Amino acid sequence: MLAVVSSHAPLGIEGELVSVEVDIRRGLPGIDIVGLPDGAVRESRERVRVAIRNSGFAFPAERILVSLAPAGIRKEGASFDLPIALGVLLASGQIGSEGTGATMVLGELNLGGGVRPVNGVLSAVGSGLAGGIGRFLVPRENLREALALGRGEIRGIDSLREAALALSSPGLGEPRPARDAGEDLADATSAESRRCGSIADIRGHSELKRALEVAAAGRHHLLLFGPPGSGKTMAARRLPSLLPPLEREEALAVTRIHSIAGVLPTGAGLVARPPFRMPHHSASIEGIVGGGRFARPGEVSLAHHGVLFLDEAPEFGTSLLQGLREPVEDGWVSIARAGSTVRFPACFQLVLSFNPCPCGNLGRDSHACICTAAEIQRYWRRVGGALLDRVDIRFPLTPVAASQMCLPSRPQEGAEMAERVEKATAIQRARHAGMGFSWNARIPPGIIDSLCPLNAGCRHALAEAAERLSISSRAYHSVLRIARTIADLDGAADIAEAHLAEAIQHRRYGDNDFFWSRR
Ligand SMILES: [Zn+2]
Repeated sequence: MLAVVSSHAPLGIEGELVSVEVDIRRGLPGIDIVGLPDGAVRESRERVRVAIRNSGFAFPAERILVSLAPAGIRKEGASFDLPIALGVLLASGQIGSEGTGATMVLGELNLGGGVRPVNGVLSAVGSGLAGGIGRFLVPRENLREALALGRGEIRGIDSLREAALALSSPGLGEPRPARDAGEDLADATSAESRRCGSIADIRGHSELKRALEVAAAGRHHLLLFGPPGSGKTMAARRLPSLLPPLEREEALAVTRIHSIAGVLPTGAGLVARPPFRMPHHSASIEGIVGGGRFARPGEVSLAHHGVLFLDEAPEFGTSLLQGLREPVEDGWVSIARAGSTVRFPACFQLVLSFNPCPCGNLGRDSHACICTAAEIQRYWRRVGGALLDRVDIRFPLTPVAASQMCLPSRPQEGAEMAERVEKATAIQRARHAGMGFSWNARIPPGIIDSLCPLNAGCRHALAEAAERLSISSRAYHSVLRIARTIADLDGAADIAEAHLAEAIQHRRYGDNDFFWSRR
């Protein structure tokens, strides 16, 4: 007898619908799985056999053929356990088959017949809905994620027994979600903002806070450089606290990626806040950019709609940093994979931190720098001009003076900055609607003059500064984008000379070999 259960194979960001066909016929007892299964899928033979017995069903003593279709795409992971087990129960007549064709089943089995969570559930539900499937059985721990689209009839499952019952009796006691995805979003938002710390934790450093505010408002890539102990890491970690929560479509996109990568916390619903990713410099290129045997998204994609922070950036190595050029420019990464290319979104805000020189003391009053000019040049070149060129805002940090450290903190400071950033964000979203980008940092060169028009006074001031600071043409565009952001923070329709003057300050370093002149 033949039974068919629908399931899903993650592949890139969308994945593909998979039909799990189970045929049972007389013959030597055994189970074969065909249709490009990987090791974990082949192992599901054993898990399925034991889980079926331990759930009080009989495992057929006949020849069982499991075919995963379409055969052309590789099936990975353990999420086919549950559909295969249900297929065996259907084909052996142990459960009825009403409505199985329109039900998608996902889940890994343990030997006791319990259902374990799987990756990529949100993508699976999205593909299923698009493919005309309206009913879903998902592991209980993936239920909130599966409900995030707000559509479909979705049932959280704890065990094979429960899944068998739900599959064979459609409509039986469908639980209504206790709460909707909007509530989840609000909850996650407040929990996350408690976690990431506040700008008010940074004492003194008013220029640094302003640079963070401008960077957050226009999503400008940011470089923080300064000696050890100057607070680069602490500052970068607090940048996300200034960013407004994700909009619904953004939250869905981020959740999909995090789920496929298996980094979504167990039982989580939508990711509500812009992600903040801080990989270690020992991470592999695959870990950062994505790839590997299963073409998993890397850190650049996990940081989609959020921040990617590379602390001590030169330590990441030149080839890895060069690998960031594609996502930084396009907002996507392409990953080559046996016979095909998978694309993942990777539109993130890049934050780099460096010591100013290999010994770290350049620019410090209390210590002498022992590096030669050639060493400092080599150190900076490790990051590569092409990547640095795309970093709009460069901020030099100095260790904060003791007198500043004793300044009282203003707890409301972070909230005030976040409010200004949120207003500037709304202005950009409205102005750039339908243009294919959201943030000032991503205004394409072709329309920069129309979105960032300068009056005669500004044009004169910029020409004069370009001359004085020997600003490159790319830096010139950076200055215009930053000035646009500062005007937006000000609620001003037009860029004024004060906006431009501040923008030039944020871009004054880095167009020559030395970021920081020797004293
Ligand atoms: Zn040095």
